[in-house]
Amino acid sequence: MRLHEYQAKQIFSEHGIPIAKGEVATSVDDVRKIAEKLGGKVVLKSQVLVGGRGKAGGIKLSNSAEEAEELARELFGKVIKGHLVSKIYVEEQLAIDKEMYVGFTLDRSRKGFTLIVSSVGGMDIEEIAAEHPDRIASVTVDPIYGLWDYQIRNVLYAAGMPKEYFKQVTAIIKSLYSILVKYEAELTEINPLVVTKSGEMIAADARLNIDDNALYRHKELEKLRDYTEVNQLERIADEKGLNYVKLDGNIGVIANGAGMSMATMDLIYLEGGKPANFLDIGGGASSEVVKEAISTILMDENVKVIFMNIFGGITRCDEVANGLVKAFSDMEVSTPIVLRLAGTNEEEGRQIIQKFVKKSGIGIYVVETMEEGAKKAVELAR
Ligand code: GDP
Ligand code: MN
Repeated sequence: MRLHEYQAKQIFSEHGIPIAKGEVATSVDDVRKIAEKLGGKVVLKSQVLVGGRGKAGGIKLSNSAEEAEELARELFGKVIKGHLVSKIYVEEQLAIDKEMYVGFTLDRSRKGFTLIVSSVGGMDIEEIAAEHPDRIASVTVDPIYGLWDYQIRNVLYAAGMPKEYFKQVTAIIKSLYSILVKYEAELTEINPLVVTKSGEMIAADARLNIDDNALYRHKELEKLRDYTEVNQLERIADEKGLNYVKLDGNIGVIANGAGMSMATMDLIYLEGGKPANFLDIGGGASSEVVKEAISTILMDENVKVIFMNIFGGITRCDEVANGLVKAFSDMEVSTPIVLRLAGTNEEEGRQIIQKFVKKSGIGIYVVETMEEGAKKAVELAR
């Protein structure tokens, strides 16, 4: 999960990293009021979850509250690199003397966190690396040993960091690392880290990406997720705890396990069909989860048929069958379902379904194999 700049800055600030004064606004009126409070000379920063906002016209400098209001009117509703601007962070303008870069990223291949420092900043890190290779340096931190002062010192020397900044930058790097560890982040970054004309060092931008798989341990951050930036259906699925990704086909897919889901989608493509989504109900899913999965998929208007492909291991086929029955009993479902049940308790599962189909006359097609299922689903979707 990627946090907005204003959210990341809040956290950075709580950990001792200096930031400029600012407030987030959702209306032109708010922008004017905040700009007045900050004395008029402000920066308007579009809060969209994408990099390079500056170049794309998402960052505006203003000299008065009136000008801020005018600029806000242009910015709200504007689309920056595919993201709609609905929040603007209004910050006190900094008189920038120097721009630098500091950040950590998770590097799986090196099994650690790579600290990158550059004594130039403000542009993409790739651009810095290409244009100023002598002003950028990095070191990988082993999370077992943690970050050592000598590592920071080596990197600062190698990046050509002026000696007078060492103390402040070091403190900021240590704060970034503690944020990274505390929140189980994949990325923490300040670009640019600026030195103002009066000699203060301030984080002018902030990025913090949290590992989605660790989010359940950080409930306070989960609340920060900006759902205006997430597909509506994916949002509902996320709230139900489902692993769902919306796609643009018309065959709803439910499978257990990511590999199984992918294989099911592949087979649908092979048969000439197109999956409407990826949905992995995981191992050991309860009948309640199965019901939620079906109801989520049915919210997608494009879905003409659902293909449920279950290979029971810890997931029990009778539990899945009960979920299906529950879904059909609680909801009005007219979408046909192709069902393949194999593995643990498959016989019990099939019996539950057959009994239910006989009683209700509902369209559930039980198939033996994945291939057969994919063929049937594609046929029904036509
Ligand atoms: P990004 O383009 O999405 O990375 O957004 P940034 O927050 O990094 O802003 C882009 C650029 O705008 C920075 O590199 C600065 O050059 C400029 N900028 C941001 N804040 C200020 C500020 O307070 N004063 C001035 N003069 N420039 C700023
Ligand atoms: Mn930036």
